[in-house]
Amino acid sequence: MQIYGLIGYPVKHSLSAAMHKAAFKHLGIDAEYRLFEVRPEDLRSFFICLEKENISGLNVTIPHKEKVIPFLNSISQEAELIGAVNTVEISGVKLSGFNTDGKGFLRDIGESLGFNPQGKQIAILGAGGAARAVSVYLAKSNPTALSIYDPDAEKLNLLIRHLEKNFKRVKFHAATSVSGLGIKGRDLLVNASPIGMKEGDPPALDKKLLHKGLYVYDLVYNRETQLLRDAKIKCAGACGGLGMFLYQGVLAFEIWTKKDAPVALMRRALEEALKKQ
Ligand code: NAP
Repeated sequence: MQIYGLIGYPVKHSLSAAMHKAAFKHLGIDAEYRLFEVRPEDLRSFFICLEKENISGLNVTIPHKEKVIPFLNSISQEAELIGAVNTVEISGVKLSGFNTDGKGFLRDIGESLGFNPQGKQIAILGAGGAARAVSVYLAKSNPTALSIYDPDAEKLNLLIRHLEKNFKRVKFHAATSVSGLGIKGRDLLVNASPIGMKEGDPPALDKKLLHKGLYVYDLVYNRETQLLRDAKIKCAGACGGLGMFLYQGVLAFEIWTKKDAPVALMRRALEEALKKQ
């Protein structure tokens, strides 16, 4: 029996277990998926104890995506660029880190919105962990311009400087206010802020700022946000983050098992698990 799992704090409401368990069962892989709730102060002891456990792979979530890096033997180029790891492959004593969030996002904007970032003007709300993964993958796809808004100016400027250093051909802009994002001229708006996760949250962006030619992708995946409802009425296309969540899991599954993931089945398992929450 192989063991896989999710490490985070908290992890109780995670949807990952449902999709990975369904995929293991479908492919006849003798494996189980566990939830490891690890407090930040217990991360070191978790990795020390890991050597004694027979674990083959981990998903990593908040708040450990950056903090796990020192415990790994190597990380992929993408994870290095993003500065965070969401997938760990364990082979004997060797721990390798990957980040599948950005790739999962890119795959889903292509599939769900039919959107190709090349030559486009893009705006992002939020400069946190998810925005880092998303902006790196968008920047890799050669958009013309990318502007980001976050109320935390220090975090925002750090991300913009990092992107400018690594992607010289893209024009980046740190917006210190929502109006500074220049939504009017943009082709894609990405909500990578947590606004909308909780019932009763205000829209992440005033609907007056949305326009007909805009595509909107909201990373929030646990509910239909007000931004999404507004964008479905006013914009060219709009989509929530469930597809990104699915594909980051699909890519992690393929890193661990070296097999093609049963995508449709994993999507169904995810949707079922979400209904039960
Ligand atoms: P995070 O690290 O906490 O970052 C969120 C950032 O958004 C913070 O810098 C926060 O600033 C900023 N922010 C807060 N209010 C804002 C506003 N009104 N406008 C713009 N920025 C604002 O969180 P995260 O891990 O990046 O996650 C962000 C969202 O993405 C969550 O909803 C999460 O569930 C979702 N997500 C989805 C997927 C998926 O697969 N679909 C994957 C990862 C994350 P402060 O720190 O100053 O509050």
